[in-house]
Amino acid sequence: MIREDCMFCRILDGEIPADIIHESDAAIAFRDINPQAPTHVLIIPRRHISTINDLDAGDEEVVGSLFMAAKDIAQQEGLAEDGYRVVMNCGEGAGQSVFHIHLHLLGGRLLNWPPG
Ligand code: 5GP
Ligand code: ZN
Repeated sequence: MIREDCMFCRILDGEIPADIIHESDAAIAFRDINPQAPTHVLIIPRRHISTINDLDAGDEEVVGSLFMAAKDIAQQEGLAEDGYRVVMNCGEGAGQSVFHIHLHLLGGRLLNWPPG
């Protein structure tokens, strides 16, 4: 997939509107258009990376920035105490539908385990 075809790169470029709630040098976060929990935020790197399989040596910092953003957003959304889930789907078999890596941050309701 080339960057121009990527929905999340288009959000990064401001071509598609999104409810952006967090920005850092390496990542942005916005609310999922089809929320699966009272809080459902997507945290994405500014750089286009299609899947976890496409990570290179040297991407540790960008991946770490997604988790640091998750921590801050969980605090901001009042989820830190009760608990929340962060998950990244890799590939169609795991339910990935947008091929620009993203952490889902879900909270605000009881989250069952294992997921479907
Ligand atoms: P995946 O299935 O790839 O793990 O997650 C993709 C997520 O992106 C889905 O939860 C879907 O609702 C969300 N999504 C897809 N297109 C858009 C969009 O244009 N805007 C926003 N805010 N979320 C989107
Ligand atoms: Zn992209």
